[in-house]
Amino acid sequence: MKQNALDLCKQLGVAMPTAVAGNAITARTPITGDVIATLPCASSGDIERVVVRSREAFLAWRTVPAPVRGELVRLLGEELRTSKHALGQLVSIEAGKVLQEGLGEVQEMIDICDFAVGLSRQLYGLTIASERAEHRMMETWHPLGPTLIISAFNFPVAVWAWNAALALVCGNSTLWKPSDKAPLTALATQAVFDRAVQRYRDEGHIVPDNLSAVVIGRAEVGAALVADARIPLVSATGSTRMGRAVGEACAKRFARSILELGGNNAAIIAPSATLEMVERAVTFAAVGTAGQRCTTLRRLVVHAGVYDALVPRLRKIYGKLRIGNPLDEGTLVGPLIDRAAFDAMQTALAAARAAGGTVHGGDRVQQALGTDAYYVQPAIVEMPSQTDVMCHETFAPILHVVKYDGEIEQAVALNNAVAHGLSSSIFTNDLREMERFLGAAGSDCGIANVNIGTSGAEIGGAFGGEKETGGGRESGSDSWRAYMRRATNTI
Ligand code: NAD
Repeated sequence: MKQNALDLCKQLGVAMPTAVAGNAITARTPITGDVIATLPCASSGDIERVVVRSREAFLAWRTVPAPVRGELVRLLGEELRTSKHALGQLVSIEAGKVLQEGLGEVQEMIDICDFAVGLSRQLYGLTIASERAEHRMMETWHPLGPTLIISAFNFPVAVWAWNAALALVCGNSTLWKPSDKAPLTALATQAVFDRAVQRYRDEGHIVPDNLSAVVIGRAEVGAALVADARIPLVSATGSTRMGRAVGEACAKRFARSILELGGNNAAIIAPSATLEMVERAVTFAAVGTAGQRCTTLRRLVVHAGVYDALVPRLRKIYGKLRIGNPLDEGTLVGPLIDRAAFDAMQTALAAARAAGGTVHGGDRVQQALGTDAYYVQPAIVEMPSQTDVMCHETFAPILHVVKYDGEIEQAVALNNAVAHGLSSSIFTNDLREMERFLGAAGSDCGIANVNIGTSGAEIGGAFGGEKETGGGRESGSDSWRAYMRRATNTI
């Protein structure tokens, strides 16, 4: 596995350091628990240098016409297409997601590049009627400055692309502090970007050095960057704990933040739901990426009238899931990221039992794959009610199931009764219920789906959630506005 990862890094153009002294980050794979490489952690001197250079790059890049900036992002999309298989494999190895998901993540990067290229010709402002005679009033949008991207381990590369593709066409430089659990995929992505820059130069365009930079380190490196007054925008993806710290630090210095934090997502299964569709959608949303997606389905709110038809059937499907090496064809569930994730899952299951829940699954399996590799049987937990343990995000494949026996309003209240507000679904064939769920008194989440699971998102729509999910929006729709400064001009 180690050699496979190193070969992919080489193929992708990553220059691996030979010897690392002092503060270091260990890159490992959750598939076997093996260490792949040791990388130097950025020092305070490195951070200072990288911020200065990023600021210089911004000053040059901001005056390049937006459609010409778009050409660089178009080339990035082409380079990603060329590197899709290798980068997708490396994502699988470093994050432990099944190969199709690794490839899918790279496809999202390609898709957002396509989106951003179109956007580079559509960064419009309004013209507004002035109350003064012979005056014209308008809004114009301008590049903002170096954009700091902090990413989580579970989407190690797509989150960078969602932000960077937009930031770059908007005229910003980017700094990336990837998860210390996924540094290699970040270095590989930077190498792909460097090839796009080379092709852009070969086409005769001028592009500053250090337009994109990766800063390897743990939380304290992220915190040092977040505190830097030369960075006007921080887009941070990760836990709510991290977002609280980042949000506060940004607010203190009036920097902008896009916070994409935890989720505790529910699906409501109404009496009229098509159960065959529910079984597939629920299983995919609850066990995909081994329950380590921000949009993973964690709570199932099932009407009493269909509970006995659905839940035993789901348990049967869970019994047949193929759990194992995510690079093997046919595997549906890969490993948890590390021992801490496994321990957190076991703690949550014990709490569910203590609260009267009946736990099916949840045990460690496939121990032969590595003593430091943590594979689990995804768990279904039948709960007597929505107790405290269901109100927190445990980043593991645990699907809590509760019954409701009243009207749709009761199920919506359960959906909304948690601190997070990322994704939600209803399965129903009743139009009135659907409208209730999608309306003003319905789901309070940033994503509300009908007859589709909670996980996954298309890049065309703005992605993000409310409450303790942070309120940020990135990717499609008009998310680009967060990466620019707006000026109101009267002439
Ligand atoms: P994490 O919060 O531990 O780390 C995320 C990133 O933040 C890492 O790069 C980390 O080094 C950095 N970081 C941590 N503390 C920091 C601080 N004080 N200042 C600056 N940087 C800091 O999260 P994780 O375990 O990597 O990822 C899992 C979490 O991320 C889950 O809660 C999941 O729901 C969430 N997530 C959210 C989204 C979304 O779009 N809403 C997407 C993916 C993951």
